[in-house]
Amino acid sequence: MKCIGIFGGTFDPVHNGHIQMALEAKATLPLDEVRLVPCHKPPHRQTPAGDSLHRFAMLTLAAASHKGLLVDDRECSRETPSYTVDTLVSLRQELGDRVSLVLLMGMDAFVHLTSWSRWQQLRELAHVAVMSRPDGSTVVHEHLKQWLQEADEPSIIKQQTAGGFLRLDQSLLPISATQVRQQLVQTGQSESISPPVAEYIKRHYLYQR
Ligand code: ATP
Repeated sequence: MKCIGIFGGTFDPVHNGHIQMALEAKATLPLDEVRLVPCHKPPHRQTPAGDSLHRFAMLTLAAASHKGLLVDDRECSRETPSYTVDTLVSLRQELGDRVSLVLLMGMDAFVHLTSWSRWQQLRELAHVAVMSRPDGSTVVHEHLKQWLQEADEPSIIKQQTAGGFLRLDQSLLPISATQVRQQLVQTGQSESISPPVAEYIKRHYLYQR
């Protein structure tokens, strides 16, 4: 069965931590491909500093050198807030019911899952895989604690198309887009972004004071 990872985020801008997370998930689960989905209007946070077209373009540059990493613009073309559940519905309409979808997220995103629109439906549409991230986020919601305690074996993604819950222990880089934006404002550069993304940022005068 084909297994596709879905990795959404603001990607403001995309950094090496995002790419490493997508590549490690792809290699360890394993997944046939990972679709990176930049959100247009994040429902839970401030409007991103970078316009969604720029964020999409930077993501495309960062993913270009990695086989199996694709960028999906479906949220950029929606004027409504970027609810992940709607994105998964739209992916299911496009890909059908025979592929396995795996929604990838860091622990920092997972701890807020119960505030996401129709969050209980997410596992009807996809598996959920959570990666710990070096920021020490801890789960407080009882429902999510139960998911963590009853995590499935990775082989579930080959056996059913949705419904599983996976914990991935990965060596994630201690990088955040917030830090990258600060470095860019302060010094005009950051070691945590790839050269084509750095070049794009320079060319378009992004993330300046
Ligand atoms: P910001 O600092 O602006 O909040 P961010 O770096 O956390 O940005 P987002 O675009 O908000 O990035 O995150 C999208 C997804 O990427 C989330 O699921 C988040 O957990 C994950 N992620 C972000 N940074 C890392 C990292 N260094 N390693 C692994 N996953 C990451």
